[in-house]
Amino acid sequence: MMSPRVLLAGFLGLLLLAPQVVSEFHVTLLNYIGLYAIVALGLVLLTGVGGLMSFGQAAFVGLGAYTTAYLSTAQGLPGWASMLGGSPWLGLLAGLLVTAVVALVLGLLTLRLSGHYLPLGTIAWGISLYYLFGNLDFLGGHTGMSGIPALALFGVELKDGRSYYYMIWAVLLVAVWLTQNLLDSREGRAIRALKGGVVMAEAMGVDTARSKTVIFLIAALFACVSGWLYAHLQRFVNPTPFGLHIGIEYLFMAVVGGAANVWGALIGAGVITVLKQWLQDWLPKLLGASGNFEMIVFGLMMILVLQRARDGLWPILVRLVPQRVQRHEVPQGEPLPRKSMPDTGQVLLEAKNVVKRFGGLVANNNMSLTVGAGEIMALIGPNGAGKSTMFNCVSGVDRATEGEVLFRGRSVTGLNSRQIAKLGMSRTFQHVRLLPTMSVLENAAIGAHLRGGKGVLPAMLHLERSEEQRLLAEAARQVERVGLKDSMFDAAGSLALGQQRTLEIARALCADPCLLLLDEPAAGLRYLEKQSLADLLRKLRGEGMGILLVEHDMDFVMGLADRVVVMEFGEKIAEGLPDDVQRNPAVIEAYLGGVD
Ligand code: ADP
Ligand code: MG
Repeated sequence: MMSPRVLLAGFLGLLLLAPQVVSEFHVTLLNYIGLYAIVALGLVLLTGVGGLMSFGQAAFVGLGAYTTAYLSTAQGLPGWASMLGGSPWLGLLAGLLVTAVVALVLGLLTLRLSGHYLPLGTIAWGISLYYLFGNLDFLGGHTGMSGIPALALFGVELKDGRSYYYMIWAVLLVAVWLTQNLLDSREGRAIRALKGGVVMAEAMGVDTARSKTVIFLIAALFACVSGWLYAHLQRFVNPTPFGLHIGIEYLFMAVVGGAANVWGALIGAGVITVLKQWLQDWLPKLLGASGNFEMIVFGLMMILVLQRARDGLWPILVRLVPQRVQRHEVPQGEPLPRKSMPDTGQVLLEAKNVVKRFGGLVANNNMSLTVGAGEIMALIGPNGAGKSTMFNCVSGVDRATEGEVLFRGRSVTGLNSRQIAKLGMSRTFQHVRLLPTMSVLENAAIGAHLRGGKGVLPAMLHLERSEEQRLLAEAARQVERVGLKDSMFDAAGSLALGQQRTLEIARALCADPCLLLLDEPAAGLRYLEKQSLADLLRKLRGEGMGILLVEHDMDFVMGLADRVVVMEFGEKIAEGLPDDVQRNPAVIEAYLGGVD
């Protein structure tokens, strides 16, 4: 059995040796694989992890290549720009700057819109930039630009493929390292949470628009760097390698390799590049005709991969290598600072005459309720009564049509769920919203998002390790607290549904809330599990937390809640102490004697 570390060391050794033993032709091939992998890596982050699709990466590569090509060859630049001329390194800087601006504008225009706008936007961008490159005289039109100087590093000119090889692969490995670091951080969890839908991430305090912009920007910058390297390797650029079809090929690479893992980018770039070379050589001979047959084979291959191995080749390769059982240590760390709890009895939440209409359907009509600090308030009622809708209006996931919600004395009507989460309200979802492939610990840690503050750059450089350690330690404490210690490192998707609900509570607790909204937390739990959940909720109440609980299980509610509000058809039909409510004829009619 080999550990990942040994494999990595072996791989790096091979990389180091490769140019010394293989032919010039193969060094060139490896150079291209490296260049492509840098772009594909950006797509792993953007598409594989973040779930956003771009067909326009080739255009960003072109931006990097053309910026440096222009600046390092142009004669007679205006005075202020002439200082940029000549040096490839300033060309890199300028390229990154131009790319960042374009990516930000493109991101602002498309990322906030849902669904297909981003892919469509990147297609439009890919096509228009391609034609721009081809039609601008100062960029050489379709013939392109030549005479680009070679890169020089510490006074050594990287003129041949072999010396350039080390440059390309060093950049790729640094990019892999930065990406891996980012994914393994608070910001990375926020990015990975995007796939679980923005509703959950936002409710945990993640600014999803920002996370999307960040990965779009990083992917574009990686592409730009690849283009810069390409320009100084080729010493010549024309528009061909930056067209839309190449943008699609980059996406191919990421998907075929395994878009969920950084190494998938490398596998994908390698497999596609070698295969393309091979097909280009052999297909015309086999078929006795010339043409771009490899594209047809690629298309078929893509369909096959999507059908047979949705996650790409990387996970298949991983399975081939016998894995050592990984031993995880429970993260330890200084407790995070906590918000001060409001005094017991103080009103935390006050909903006044909340109305929520879905078209003609009135899901909440004139709903009012209060929850105090150190109080468990239960919201009960038959299915479809409007309880979850009420939760959504209170927590900012949805906006009430009319009425007002006060939280800790201030109006939160019209605030979004992220802003409300910041004020100390945290929630679970009736339909569990976890990231099934992430561990229980990491899922819980998403809840602690607002308790850390280190940004993307420290995360990429792993300069935020002490904060990260404390966040994970907090997550571990909450996981332990809800009784999931034994599954801490298992994938959340492997838990029974009842335990997944419990994990949602741990995630909510990681936010250090003073008001906890739980939507049917006991559904799917066994008797003993319900008992320990009730114990936990009592303990939280004892600490001064306010709890608003939607529940179906009457016994569970009656033994636990301080007060009960009963809903039917969107309206409040009763409110009071559990015993009184239980005896209320309207409640018995609507709820106890009714559907259940
Ligand atoms: P409960 O949680 O009490 O079971 P809900 O709040 O989920 O009830 O639903 C109340 C009513 O509102 C139901 O009739 C449901 O179909 C409707 N409803 C809930 N969400 C939406 C929505 N997003 N669009 C349209 N109707 C909805
Ligand atoms: Mg519900």
